[in-house]
Amino acid sequence: MEHAVCEEIGRFVIEAETNRFPGSDERYFDDPLIGFATATDPLFTEYKSVIGKFHLTPGELVSASTPNESWAPATVICWVLPIADRTRVSNRSETIYPSRLWAQTRNFGEQFNTALRRHMVTWLTGKGYFAAAPQLMPAWREMPETAVGIASTWSERHAAYAAGLGTFSLTDALITPKGIAHRLGSVITDLKLEPSQRPYRERRANCLHYREGTCGACIGRCPVGALSREGHDKYKCRSYVYGTIPDAVSAEYGVQAAGCGLCQTKVPCEGKIPAGRDPYPA
Ligand code: SF4
Ligand code: SF4
Repeated sequence: MEHAVCEEIGRFVIEAETNRFPGSDERYFDDPLIGFATATDPLFTEYKSVIGKFHLTPGELVSASTPNESWAPATVICWVLPIADRTRVSNRSETIYPSRLWAQTRNFGEQFNTALRRHMVTWLTGKGYFAAAPQLMPAWREMPETAVGIASTWSERHAAYAAGLGTFSLTDALITPKGIAHRLGSVITDLKLEPSQRPYRERRANCLHYREGTCGACIGRCPVGALSREGHDKYKCRSYVYGTIPDAVSAEYGVQAAGCGLCQTKVPCEGKIPAGRDPYPA
């Protein structure tokens, strides 16, 4: 079934009209990367120490969201939707606000990502399995004030890390084999699938800053100083991304959410794992 799941996600990404810019054949997202994590992987329990007690395991999500259904999740299916080349290129020349293509991808592309979550739940359910998308479950909640800043009861990034799809970075975003400019999604199911390998030495290995103390290109890309060698100031970033930017460009671009992505473009990790001095994986 691993192959069938990958094929179905890939088919939907290629064929869905909702993965296309308005009036165009061009896609928001290139072909996806897909990974599987075991739902009972100890990492999901460890995340309670790393992120906070409020972060739920797959089993807790199910029991909190659907108390009348008793099913035990076996697998977390995760995907990376790489942002199309033309959109990434358009954002490279921006220095204050995101490009129109980037903003449309953040707004309409994420709507497609939600459609993909719903589609995979329907597809799995149609094959006789239980399935649910954590971000669409009643137990999904944003947690604005936590020890790690703004967080939620389910982190798509941490799920993707568990599924072998990439590692964390100075910006907190995941650097995958197709880079850092992407959207992530996941679905949990009782279908048992072979878990993907995690081909990394440690949790931030794909970022040159953590791997060899170099780079830092993302720091200079941030217009509000939310990035430094000390890390990512989530509050400063969020205030800019969800306040200043939409106020400035939403009406002009015809979107509600515009994103930012300046620190994800014109950087060595934009579309790949950066090689650095010590190419990785070796
Ligand atoms: S630009 Fe460099 S320092 Fe910043 S996240 Fe990418 S690899 Fe890491
Ligand atoms: S998303 Fe924008 S505001 Fe946030 S850290 Fe990156 S460049 Fe700065």
